[in-house]
Amino acid sequence: MKILIVEDDPIFRRILEANLLEWGYDIVVASNGSEAWEIIQKPESPSLIISDWMMPGMDGLTLCRKIRRMDMQGYVYFILLTAKGEKRDVIDGLEAGADDFLTKPFNQEELKYRTRIGERIINLERRILELANTDALTGVMNRRAFMERMEQETVRSRRDKIPLSFILADIDHFKKVNDTYGHQVGDLVLQRFTATVSASMRPYDLIGRYGGEEFVICLPGADGLQAASAAERIRKKVEAMEIIVPDSSKSVSITASFGATAYSVESRESMDSIIKKADDALYRAKNEGRNRVCTT
Ligand SMILES: [Mg+2]
Repeated sequence: MKILIVEDDPIFRRILEANLLEWGYDIVVASNGSEAWEIIQKPESPSLIISDWMMPGMDGLTLCRKIRRMDMQGYVYFILLTAKGEKRDVIDGLEAGADDFLTKPFNQEELKYRTRIGERIINLERRILELANTDALTGVMNRRAFMERMEQETVRSRRDKIPLSFILADIDHFKKVNDTYGHQVGDLVLQRFTATVSASMRPYDLIGRYGGEEFVICLPGADGLQAASAAERIRKKVEAMEIIVPDSSKSVSITASFGATAYSVESRESMDSIIKKADDALYRAKNEGRNRVCTT
């Protein structure tokens, strides 16, 4: 875990640095609030901050307030260092949003365990976020998380003028699998399907469960033609899949239908519009006999 140390006193700064390094943490150092504020706004900034209170320029209290006011991806755990011990100060710190306090000169063990508490809370928060964004059955992103990421991708696509494509995929006659073999096998089919799709994607492609047996795939950097050939590659792999039914000699084969479309960068297309296009293409694929890729 990465920790940001904010301390204007070089001696305290060195003590903090030496201790935290010894306990296995990665360290980023700032000598005042303004420097720390710069660091915090960069991507992948530390989630745990140990900051002095009194510093020239921006002090620890102001830094803490600014962090609490900003819209951040994850939680930042803030430990405030203070040489003072008056009750009023603690209240000010709490009001600014500090999670914990350490009084200087601090005891090494106390620093260690208070840091551990912060680490535990950050890890819990990450785990909760991960669970909230994941489809429990298949392990891919759930619909809400996918849509959020996809929205970011459309922004990036417009800003950097790079193509972006989108595929809707639906397993054919999935209800029949459930009716014939039961829901457990149905679940297994969904898991195998997403594993097969994921294995044929590039690391920066996104996959999400849109609902039921319908899945969404986002391909940054791919134009419509590339998306169609990616969908065709996946279609073939799905068709070739053999899913062994547990505790039986039977196996299930499935096919899927795909609707592929390119995001129109020039027209600043909305998310609704791109989904509608892919949905229309998928509808055609189903109507034309399933197990195929249609494009817009
Ligand atoms: Mg100071």
